[in-house]
This record gives sequence, C-alpha cells and structure tokens, in this order.
Amino acid sequence: MITFYPGPSKVYPEIEHYLSDAFKSGILSVNHRSEPFMKMLKETIEMMKTKLEIPAEYEIYFCSSATECWEIIAQSLVETKSLHVFNGAFGEKWMEYTQKIKPASNGLFFDLNVLPEISDIIADQDCDVICLTHNETSNGTALPDFFFENLRKQTQKVITVDATSSMAGVTFPWASADVWYASVQKCFGLPAGLSVVVVSPKAVQQAEKIGERDHYNSLLFVRDNFLKYQTPYTPNALGIYLAGRVMDQVEILSEISVQIKERAKSWYQFLSESGFDVLVENEEVRSDTVIAVSGEKQEIASIKKAAKENGILLGNGYGSWKETSFRIANFPAITLDEINQLKVFLKTYSETPG
Ligand SMILES: *Cc1c(COP(=O)(O)O)cnc(C)c1O
Repeated sequence: MITFYPGPSKVYPEIEHYLSDAFKSGILSVNHRSEPFMKMLKETIEMMKTKLEIPAEYEIYFCSSATECWEIIAQSLVETKSLHVFNGAFGEKWMEYTQKIKPASNGLFFDLNVLPEISDIIADQDCDVICLTHNETSNGTALPDFFFENLRKQTQKVITVDATSSMAGVTFPWASADVWYASVQKCFGLPAGLSVVVVSPKAVQQAEKIGERDHYNSLLFVRDNFLKYQTPYTPNALGIYLAGRVMDQVEILSEISVQIKERAKSWYQFLSESGFDVLVENEEVRSDTVIAVSGEKQEIASIKKAAKENGILLGNGYGSWKETSFRIANFPAITLDEINQLKVFLKTYSETPG
C-alpha cells in the first residue's frame, strides 16, 4: 500500500536498515546519562541544526509529541494568557489544551481563505504568547513567510508556532518566531514518538522570567538537561538515533523545500485540470505539504475506496471537513513515482463515467 496519509505518514525506506544498525550499535541498551548516549544526542542535534538551517543561537530539545509541546508552552511560557490564532482543528485543540492550564487564554479565529489580520493580533495587549499554526493539517492551509516576518516587526511578544506537518519539508523564517515545534511522524519521514522543539534566546528569557519548574517537562528543566546533552527522563533513544540518521541522509532543507514547493504547485495544477475541487481557494494560503480536496460526502467516500482497491491510501478529512474532503500528504519521503501513480489513479477515476 502506498500511503499519502498526512500523519503517521510514509517513513523513509532506509529506516529498516537504520533500525537494524541501531540494534547492532548497542545504543538502545546504554544509560541515557552515559558518554555514548550524550555523544549520539549531541551529533543528532548538530546534524539537525545544519540540515534544517536553524540559526546558531536557537536551541533544539527533543520531547515526545506536538501535544506535549502544547502543554510545555502553556506551563512554562504563558504567564497568564496566550492568544491562539487559528482556522482549523489543530490550532483549536492547542487553545483548548492551553485553557485547561491557563484559563484566561483565548482565540482569534480566521477564515479558511484569508490571512489573519496582524492588527487584530497585536490589539490583544494582555497576552504573553502568540500561538500560530504554520501548517493547519486539518484543512491544508499554511501561513506564508511574509506573514511571520510582518508580525515579528510589529510585536516583541513571544511567538510560538506549531509546525508539525511542515518542519523538514519547507523552509521557515526561523528568526521571525521564538518556538517552532513538530512531531516527527509527518514531514520528517520518521516513526512517531518524538518531537523537535526549536527555541530562541527570547523564549528562554521569558521562561527564566516566569521561572516555572513544577513539571518533569518544564521548559527550564528540559533545557538544563539538553545543555548537558541529557534528557529529563529516559528518552526515546531509538527515535533520536533514527532522527540523526535521517538528518544525515537528507539534503539541506532549502533544497528539499524547492522540490516540495514544485511538487505542490504541480499537484494544485493537476487537481484543477482534472476537475477536483481544492478545499482552499486562495492560492496564497494553500499548504505545500498537505493538500486537501473537497467534494460531496459520497464522492469522497467513493474515491477513497477506489484508491484503496488500487493500493493507495488517501488521508481522511479531519475535523469539520472529515467527510467532505480527503487529504494528500506532500512529504519528502514520498517519491515522484508514488505521486505519479496517484495522479494516474485520480485522472482515470475522474474520466470514468458514473
Ligand atoms: C499531527 C499534529 C499534531 C499532533 O501531533 P502528536 O504527535 O499526535 O502530538 C499537532 N498539530 C498539528 C498541526 C498536527 O498536524
């Protein structure tokens, strides 16, 4: 089965080999405060910083999931309230999780086909942290680079970004936000159970000002450990090892990003030429890594079923678009050959009467 599911998604085929290497290397049985583990962690972080072109002054920590990052930010970076700017299910869930920890936090909803108004965001003067979703996996929208750059120019507040379904797929304006995080089972082409948290000096300062150290995953406690190339709890050493191997294998992000953007452009063109409706009409806010196609409930069910019979797994719709859309992951681990197979299937499907 070829999978276009946007998470968990296709892992790089090399993972099979890396799994066996991990076993043979002995890294899976070593203590996480020992020299071999610390060396592996350090090399993985350095490789990731190089390949993802992360600014030198930003730090990387590994946690368990994007969901865990929602809680870490709420605990350790939000003093009293955060502002959640969202248009879909993941951004909304982040707000809901935060409100359980910091009840004063609130949301600013924007429509699928527009960009949020920066003036509305900065008008909220009492929030400590601005929370944005770079790529809303549920509906196939993304915020363009210039949006982050413009926002950064207009506010000194800490900006945190859920980049779960785009990090390692497309380039980011890293310096225009303070925390970027992602789980690895999407664009990284890795098995689930690990998240990457990229943190600016400004975010560290804010965490220090708040001084929250009440949890095993308090940002400052996580940081203290990572500065020594250790972790607060026994980590997913296999996940970290695999991340290091995949980061070593892949091209530099700016090159991957060009390919992913070309593939996305070609997908959008193909879909409109073949008579499919892209869920997001405004090209400026269309995602490069998750493409959502909308249709009648029965039509969507029928396409997904026919695809499956042809050995292709399409992503289900999500949230309010669960039954009226399907999603196509455009992640780096997916090959051009697989994309062509899906295009042939969709073309044939669209030309078949009835
Ligand atoms: C998948 C996803 C999450 C949740 O990731 P977990 O690893 O399950 O915690 C959060 N945000 C976005 C945008 C996602 O795509």
